[in-house]
This record gives sequence, structure tokens and C-alpha cells, in this order.
Amino acid sequence: MEDFLKLARERFVVMDKTNEYDRELLRYALDLGLNEKMQLRDLCELVESLAKCNPSLALSISAHHLALNCLKDCEGFCAFALTEKSGSNVKDVKTSAEVEGDVYRIVGLKRFVTNGEFADRFVVSAKVEGKVMVFEVDGKVKAERINLNAFRGSGISKVYFDNRGRLLGDLKLAIISLNFGRVVLSHLALGIAKRCFEVALRRAKKMGLIENAGVRWRFAELKSEIEVLSGYLKSVVNDFNPKDFVRPAICKLKASEVAKSCSDFMVEVFGAKGLVTHSLPETLYRYAKALDIGEGTNEIMKEIVSRAL
Ligand SMILES: Cc1cc2nc3c(=O)[nH]c(=O)nc-3n(C[C@H](O)[C@H](O)[C@H](O)COP(=O)(O)OP(=O)(O)OC[C@H]3O[C@@H](n4cnc5c(N)ncnc54)[C@H](O)[C@@H]3O)c2cc1C
Repeated sequence: MEDFLKLARERFVVMDKTNEYDRELLRYALDLGLNEKMQLRDLCELVESLAKCNPSLALSISAHHLALNCLKDCEGFCAFALTEKSGSNVKDVKTSAEVEGDVYRIVGLKRFVTNGEFADRFVVSAKVEGKVMVFEVDGKVKAERINLNAFRGSGISKVYFDNRGRLLGDLKLAIISLNFGRVVLSHLALGIAKRCFEVALRRAKKMGLIENAGVRWRFAELKSEIEVLSGYLKSVVNDFNPKDFVRPAICKLKASEVAKSCSDFMVEVFGAKGLVTHSLPETLYRYAKALDIGEGTNEIMKEIVSRAL
């Protein structure tokens, strides 16, 4: 695993610059069995460690397990394709499913699908007789890479479906899986937050900025945020309830905010150098921002939490 993390770290800059997914890294991940179902605790640990080295690959692994949660198995990588033009309103689905023999024909366009470029299997929402259902689709799809400014090299694509699919269940299956996915993504955010904190602290010590009480106190505040977040995430993982929408939403809301605060401070500590394109601070600043949009925006997380009050 150490070698894998080392290689993942080395390849990250190129992935961010080119937006190309790394076949060799993905193959390595398969060889290590990282695509196989695992305990939530192990998956969260893996994603947190990976996020410190290569957040794009960490997102690919997270998205794979989110989709896998709806499936029995998948030999390669899978993707979770829910988002359409209507964005947060996942019930407004234009993708259609029509009975074709003993399966369905799925036709439609999904957007921002992580792993979309290389996935072997897709979990897709589609409307059949006015009801949104979830299907599994194998094989070739037309995928068009999106030039997002974060999580580059994660294969995030527009995916055009005109494929045969098998019914997995109703939309509840995908919505419940998102609870699992949000806890995992929160660990990705925690990994980014920790990396930003460590890099900024090293720099502040090296440059003597740490002698300034204002700087030290900001580190103390961020350290407290990270510690409290880690404790909360641990408690949610320890007694994870897939039907609980509120705690995963709190995890995702808080974790993305902590990641944003840490990345923002890292840029501050580096000064103008932190704004140089593809420098680590500038890169992680972009990635942290995307975390409050992916797997449901933070406004939607607030909706989930506030409606349960
Ligand atoms: C890095 C990344 C990876 C992703 N991976 C996947 C993936 O693998 N599969 C997939 O299906 N999708 C994926 N997405 C898409 C993601 O799920 C959507 O971007 C997200 O659900 C929001 O939809 P939208 O971007 O269309 O924004 P919109 O829904 O158009 O929202 C625009 C703004 O309006 C706000 N808003 C919308 N509705 C409400 C409301 N009811 N109350 C208050 N405010 C509201 C939003 O918070 C936001 O600020 C990914 C996105 C990112 C950034």
C-alpha cells in the first residue's frame, strides 16, 4: 500500500495538469483489490490516506464504492450516474427506461459522472412509466470528458446512454447509497484538510511566520476544527445507519467547510506563491471548493439537516 500511495502522489500533478485519468494507477488499485466491497471503516481510512496523496484518485475510489453499494459486485470500476440538467432535483429525470424483452432500454444524458470515462458498469437513474427507478448498465457508453477545474483525472464526464439495463430498485436505493457516499466523501475532505494543514504548518515554521501569535492562533483554530471533525466522523462510522440522512449530511457539510478553511489558510501562508497555477495550495484550494458541490451541494445538506429539526 505504501508504494501505491507513493505512486499516487507522484502522478497527481500530471493528472491535475492534463485531466487524463491514469490507467496504470487504476490497474494498480484493481490489483490491490481496492474495487472490492469493504467495511465502511476501512474504506474511509483508505480514502482519507489517498486524499492526502491524490484527491482525484480518492474521488474515483469513493465514486466506485458509492455505485458498488447498489450492486452485488463489479470486476472493474463502476460509476454512479444520477445528475442531469435539473441538478439537485434528482427526481426531475429525463433519462427514460422502456421494457425491451426481459431487460430495459435506457436512453438519456447524465452529467458530471465521476469515472464516466472508464467505468465498466454504471448505476443509472431513469424514468419508467412516470416513476424514477435505478438500473445497472454494462458495457460501452459514449462519454465526453468535462474540463472541470477540480478532481481532474477522475474521468468526470457527460455520459450518453442508449444501452440495455437491468432494474436494481427504486430511487430510494440511490438516495440511501448517498448517505454512505457522503460519509466516505467527508473522509476525502478530511484528508485534504489535514494535508493543507501539514503543508501550511511546515511552511509557516520554515519562514518564521509561526512566531506571529495571529498565525499560531489560526493554526490552533484549524487544529481544533480537524480534531472535532475527525471525532464526529469516527462516531458516525462506528454506528453507521444507512437510513439516517442527517448525520451523513452534517459530516459532508462540516468536512467540506473544514477543507475549505484549511486550503484557504494554506494559500494565505504561501502568499502569492500559493496562487501560482498547479502549485499545491492553488490546486487543493480548487479541490476543496468542489467538495461542497459534489454528492449534493451544501445547501441541500442544510435542507436535509434543517427539515429534520
Ligand atoms: C467533483 C464532482 C463530482 C461529481 N460526481 C458525480 C457523480 O459521480 N455522479 C453524479 O450523478 N453527479 C456527480 N456530480 C454532480 C453533483 O452531484 C451535482 O453537481 C450536484 O448535485 C448539484 O447539482 P448542480 O451542479 O446541477 O447544481 P444545481 O442543482 O443547479 O444548484 C445550483 C445552486 O442552487 C442551489 N440549490 C439547488 N436546489 C436548491 C434547493 N432546493 N434549496 C437551496 N438551494 C438550492 C445549489 O445549492 C447551488 O448552489 C459531481 C459534481 C462534482 C463537482
